[in-house]
Amino acid sequence: MLVHICCSVDSHFFLQKLQQDFPEEKLTGFFYDPNIHPYSEYQLRYLDVERSCKKLGIDLLEGPYDFEAWMQAVKGLENEPEKGARCEVCFDKRFEVSAKKALELGEKKVTTTLLVSPLKSQEQLKRSGDIFHEKYGVEFIAVDYRAGGGTQDQSRVTKEEQLYRQDYCGCIFGLTMQREQQERLMDEMFSPISNQILPASIEERLDMYKYRMELEDKNIEYRIIKQKFLNYRQFNFKLIKGKKEVIPAYALSYSSLPRGKAQGRIEFEDKNIYYFNREEIKFVTLKFFNSTCKTDYKTINELIFNPPTIEEELNFRNTMTCTNYDLSPIVIVDEIPLTKLTVELNAKTYEDVREKLIII
Ligand code: SF4
Repeated sequence: MLVHICCSVDSHFFLQKLQQDFPEEKLTGFFYDPNIHPYSEYQLRYLDVERSCKKLGIDLLEGPYDFEAWMQAVKGLENEPEKGARCEVCFDKRFEVSAKKALELGEKKVTTTLLVSPLKSQEQLKRSGDIFHEKYGVEFIAVDYRAGGGTQDQSRVTKEEQLYRQDYCGCIFGLTMQREQQERLMDEMFSPISNQILPASIEERLDMYKYRMELEDKNIEYRIIKQKFLNYRQFNFKLIKGKKEVIPAYALSYSSLPRGKAQGRIEFEDKNIYYFNREEIKFVTLKFFNSTCKTDYKTINELIFNPPTIEEELNFRNTMTCTNYDLSPIVIVDEIPLTKLTVELNAKTYEDVREKLIII
């Protein structure tokens, strides 16, 4: 039987149940989910499914990440709510490719782990599955593992196995609506061109989940815990000299300017820190930054495209300000401009929760 897999939280429990109920069947997992956005989230979910299948001794195949074709298929349905018409097309597309894969492999049965998700309509899934049974002759196995306390068992397994628990269905449209309803910043979509790993980002989680696989291979015990913290995202930053000359500058992480704009000039210098006369803004030279952080940046552009880690930036901030809670804008420049300046900074600091791995 070919089992279409959407994520480890749904697949681990579902595959365990299938192994019990269909002991004569050889199960093959098929991860085909081009709906998942962004690609880093797709990689993260695939990684955890790979781990789960390995634990259960199930072969896993990966389908193509044909994201453009998926976007084309749901065109015009972007504003549909979850469980609406877009989801039906999304299921159909994933079923069609899975059923074709089953045919290609000579399998006669196909099913999907989406059936166990409490957020999905089983009726809708069955409808899609039956259409494909008629079209391709591949039988859709519509098991109900939610009933009889299944959902509770599934959460227990998720916790015991420390599976990666995503908090949105997968596509950008569902995520946008969810974040709007929650009045939460869609910080999953921030992925700087510099590849800097942002706090609580998908990339941070991906690194952590890869690391946990290394620990498991070495039989090192660990736990994944949650941590409340102050998160930060920078939308844009610009330093303007005089009327309109934009000069290369880098605003350190956690630089906050609530009104988004400040005009003024540097008033005085003390121990290599140049104090602006508005909004607690501080300037330092790249030379001072390099000597303090033991780095060797030649230009500000180099710093922008290959910045230090957030932790290194925070260490520098802490050294400069002698506190862990400083949110002043700290701007790094090649040379301190002594003329009138405009600082434009659009950023957000907010309470958040992130996962953290601890070795026990
Ligand atoms: S909300 Fe989920 S099921 Fe619906 S279209 Fe998006 S990814 Fe597919």
